[in-house]
Amino acid sequence: MSVDCEVIVLGAGAMGGAAAYQLARAGVSVLLLEQYEVGHTRGASHGESRIIRLSYDHPHYIEMCRRSYRLWAELESDAGETVLTRTGMLDLSPPGHPAMAACLESMRATAVEHEIWSSAEVIRRYPQFKLPSEYFGVWQSDAGILSPQQCVSLLVRTAQKHGAVIKDNTKVEAILLQDDRVTVVTQSGEFHGKKLIVSAGPWAGTALQQVGLRLPLTVTQESYVFFQPRRPDLFEVGRFPIFAFYGDTPHGPDLAFYGFPVFGKAGIKIARHHAGPVTTADDRSFDVPPETVDRLQGYLQQFLPDAQGVPIHAMTCLYTNTPDRHFVIDTLPGYRHVAIACGFSGHGFKFAVLIGELLADLVTKQRTDCSIELFSLSRFDSVSAK
Ligand SMILES: Cc1cc2nc3c(=O)[nH]c(=O)nc-3n(C[C@H](O)[C@H](O)[C@H](O)COP(=O)(O)OP(=O)(O)OC[C@H]3O[C@@H](n4cnc5c(N)ncnc54)[C@H](O)[C@@H]3O)c2cc1C
Repeated sequence: MSVDCEVIVLGAGAMGGAAAYQLARAGVSVLLLEQYEVGHTRGASHGESRIIRLSYDHPHYIEMCRRSYRLWAELESDAGETVLTRTGMLDLSPPGHPAMAACLESMRATAVEHEIWSSAEVIRRYPQFKLPSEYFGVWQSDAGILSPQQCVSLLVRTAQKHGAVIKDNTKVEAILLQDDRVTVVTQSGEFHGKKLIVSAGPWAGTALQQVGLRLPLTVTQESYVFFQPRRPDLFEVGRFPIFAFYGDTPHGPDLAFYGFPVFGKAGIKIARHHAGPVTTADDRSFDVPPETVDRLQGYLQQFLPDAQGVPIHAMTCLYTNTPDRHFVIDTLPGYRHVAIACGFSGHGFKFAVLIGELLADLVTKQRTDCSIELFSLSRFDSVSAK
């Protein structure tokens, strides 16, 4: 049976697009299959903005993010297009918040440049904020905005420029594994490759069951809303940073909500983190609950009064969560020529170009330069394939 290519990549979201880009750039023949059109809005990689930041509660993510900045810059120069806008970021927290403390500890341990501002200092620099006097802010200047729609399109276009074959509206319906090759079955026929990367996002549970793998993944439907601020000029890039508030959430003390300066669309975008209902990629709705809009409006009233205004755009998007919120990046047990990437738990986009590199190295070199131990399948009790 002849093979169509060296590597088949299932799913052209952020991770699959990045894997195809990194493989094609390395001269590897790659076929990228996507069930919908590239850039669709049913999964996890659409919309106007994603945060890239060094304020992280685990040193390994900080090192990964440093490499990701370099790889986004390489993509920008390869493609001659800018995808990352630096704005700086303010993490805001009441005293003694455990998640904020973990971030500060990791930033100190990895020498991330940052400043700690009192509530008064935050307001002096950004008078847009209204803050209780006991709150403090952590300023990190490298943070910025990635435009997911543009990034995914650019990754796929640049992969194509380097020779990748892209087939969208081509759903993989079955995966047949052999010891040294794979066959994927679609409505447009069968494709044969020596290796496979499964980066199916919120559909990962279904896709991986086809290769006998059951993972404890939970899909949640998250929402974000753009509000027309009373004073839009105060919230432009350059006058206002990305921000995140730490607080109490339904699942304990955590990053509660976050927002962006005006970017990519009129209005200020704000969203809660890990607050959406459990669903599946196929059963989800596209409705943003009115109570979510009210809750976000409440945050603006409390902390950013001049940003208040009518909601002008609202959208849903899916997280695929692991129990510990660490990613899954590994090869399929018993099949080292099959790599999987899923469970990005609402924080994977910033690393997409690096995860693409890790997946490309896993299937072509069976090793990675950056450790993926934290993302290993072996941390889950029972996963089986062969
Ligand atoms: C509201 C929201 C805000 C976020 N904010 C941030 C942030 O600020 N910073 C950050 O770093 N991350 C953030 N994230 C997380 C980030 O967006 C995701 O981790 C990332 O987009 C996941 O990409 P993916 O490629 O795994 O999934 P997807 O983009 O969903 O890609 C999977 C693709 O596989 C395709 N597919 C599935 N099954 C098949 C099949 N059988 N055949 C063919 N194709 C198939 C799907 O159609 C889809 O296109 C956020 C996520 C959401 C939802």
